[in-house]
Order: sequence, then C-alpha cells, then structure tokens
Amino acid sequence: MTPGQRGNRVLVLNSGSSSVKYQLLDMAGPTRLAVGLVERIGERGPGLLRHTPGEGDTRERELPVPDHRAALEAAAGELAADGLGLDAPELAAVGHRVVHGGRSFTEPTVVDDAVLAEIERLVPLAPLHNPANVAGIRTAMALNPDVPQVAVFDTAFHTTIPEHAARYAIDVRTAEEHRIRRYGFHGTSHAYVSRRTAALLGRDPAEVNVIVLHLGNGASASAVAGGRCVETSMGLTPLEGLVMGTRSGDIDPAVVFHLARVAGMSADEVDALLNQRSGLAGLCGDNDMREILRRVEEGDGEARLAFDIYIHRLRKYIGAYTAVLGRVDALAFTAGVGENAAPVRAAAVAGLTGLGLEIDERLNTARGRGARLISPEYARVAVAVVPTDEELEIATQAFALVGV
Ligand code: AMP
Repeated sequence: MTPGQRGNRVLVLNSGSSSVKYQLLDMAGPTRLAVGLVERIGERGPGLLRHTPGEGDTRERELPVPDHRAALEAAAGELAADGLGLDAPELAAVGHRVVHGGRSFTEPTVVDDAVLAEIERLVPLAPLHNPANVAGIRTAMALNPDVPQVAVFDTAFHTTIPEHAARYAIDVRTAEEHRIRRYGFHGTSHAYVSRRTAALLGRDPAEVNVIVLHLGNGASASAVAGGRCVETSMGLTPLEGLVMGTRSGDIDPAVVFHLARVAGMSADEVDALLNQRSGLAGLCGDNDMREILRRVEEGDGEARLAFDIYIHRLRKYIGAYTAVLGRVDALAFTAGVGENAAPVRAAAVAGLTGLGLEIDERLNTARGRGARLISPEYARVAVAVVPTDEELEIATQAFALVGV
C-alpha cells in the first residue's frame, strides 16, 4: 500500500447499552471477514463473546466486560487472532450505527467533537440508544485515533419526508420547542432494501416507487418514491405504526391518559406497557412469529387473533402507502418475519388484486435466501423478498464517505 492510500476494510459497530455487535468487511468484494457480538457489558457476572470468522467455526467464551472499552478490546483481540488487524491504513473507516440523528444529520457523517456533541444533544429523543452509540464511538476513537469514525443514522433516510407527512397535527409551538415530529427509524434498512428492490427489477432507483415492509421484532413500513423516502410508519419514537413483537404500534393517544386516570399508571409504567408488554407478546404471550404460526396451525384462538391483528395493520399501511405514492412498482418484504414467514406475506396481500398486488404461492413458499420476486410475471406490482443487510449498507456508506 502506497503512503496516503487507504485499505478496503471497514469495521461496522452497533453499540447498544449492554452489547456490541461488530462486523469487519472487505469492501473490494464486498466480503464479510468476520462477525461477532459481545453481550452483557457492565452487567453482573461475566460477559459473553461470540466471534465467527468469514471462514471457520464460531468461537464463544465468557470474559469480564465491565464497559464498552473492554468489549471493543476483546473484539479486536479476536480479529487479531484471525490475522485481521484494525490499524490504519488497512482499516479505512469504522462505521457506527447511530439511532437518532434528529433533523441535524441527513447523511453519514465523519465524527469529530462537534458531531459527538450534537449526537449527545439528541439524547432526549433516544434516551436508551444514543448514549450507547456515543460510548461506542468514543471508545473506538480512543482505541484507534488514526481511523476515521463515520456515524450512519437510522433516521437519515427519512429526512426527505415532506413536512405534511412528518408533522403531527398538534400545537406548532409545543411541537417546535420539544422537537416533536415524525423521524422514522430502520432507515438504513429501508434505504438498502428499496435500492436492492429496484436492482432486482433491473431499474434505476430514481424510476421506481417502492413500499418497504421491514418486519422484524421491531417493524416499520416506508413509502419510497424514486429513491427518496416520502413516508414511514415509525414516528417520534419507534413505538408508532405496525404491530411489533412487543410494541403496540398505533394506538389512540387517549389510552395513555385513560390508564393514568383509571389505573393510576405513571408515564414510565405506560411506556413499559406499550413498548415491552404489547404487540404480539401482549396479545398472545409470544413475540416470535415462528411460535405464533405454529400455534395458529394447532388452532390456538389467541394466537390466531394476534396474527389477524398484525396482518390487518399491515394491510392498512399497504393501502395507505399506495395512496401516498399514487403508483406502486414494488412491495418488498424484509427482516426476520418479512424474509422468512411466507404465511405473513400471503395474508398481507391476499385479495388485494385491485391494488395490483398478487403473490405466486409456489414462489412465496419456495426455499430461497437471496433477493427474489414472489409475484406472478403479469402482476402490476412486483412483490419481492429482499434480505436486509444493515451492516453492509453502513459499511458502504462509510466507505463511500472516506474512500479513495
Ligand atoms: P429481526 O428483528 O429482523 O432479527 O427479526 C426477528 C424475528 O423474526 C423473530 O422474533 C421472529 O418473529 C421472526 N422470524 C425469524 N425467523 C422466522 C421464521 N423462519 N419464520 C417466521 N418468523 C421468523
């Protein structure tokens, strides 16, 4: 490597409050050189590290991880054992997933002190996530000051949503003072999947309108017009929108006051109810769609109702986003449920031929891992299954920003 030249490697970090997920990618392929996870950071008892090299078996061990620094050092140690050093210039960048970029960050950004301060200013909007993201960035900076750190924001893809879709109909001054508006999340996934869907159709993203359904444990929908997001279902927080694993999604806001008045619940208690004890788990005790589908097969009424509520909400959003876009070229399913649960996909579009939506059941149930179409050729709207890859997207964006 000549002086001044950067290598092709990007380390992607997703730092949570008690865990760090990491991937090392070679952007020349791109190929995944290693993936890993450090869990139980700062908790009582030992932490857990799971590391899988690109080729080779997973290694797992317990170790003390009192803080993020210990976690990153342990991850760096595993990578070094595979011969994968994290020094500049081989390592071109570290890409960090940052949950909330507010309105300040519309694109990936090289981190400096001012950027860190701004991410911290946004903590009230994402009190659980942004502090952990900042801890991850600070640690990576301290461990490797020569490598550019790039923040890639979950909200950035949604900053193109027009005001009439992003604003709530509440008092303007209160909204402005407290920065209350629709921000949206899962943006890295919606960006990647909408672009990949256009590629699957052999078309330029600028030419196609796509509805993306990111159905994981958290779930969100987006409407993407010509490559730009124009609407998304999550709002000020990730609670709004679709029915999720443990979150209610849309609900009459008066339910919150009602619970405060009639049940004497505090704001924190209602928060926990709607975020942790609602959604599929609240409805039937299971948040895993595999388990729900199994129970439905067995004739379990509670699981059936949970499934039906989940599907009803999805169909409402498909209809709403069809109206938002005016013309839909493709509907893409992604994330754990969207990629794997054929019965969810079938039920979500059943009877929607009036909207041009149809599924070929043989294609829908065929085993497959890559991006694929599951609609018949004659259908007006292409229906696709597109595995999301947020780490690759973060790495791609970070690399593009610092690349040579
Ligand atoms: P994610 O948040 O994208 O990792 O998605 C996790 C969720 O995907 C799990 O909670 C399951 O509900 C769902 N899931 C994963 N595999 C399957 C499968 N084979 N069939 C149905 N649902 C699945």
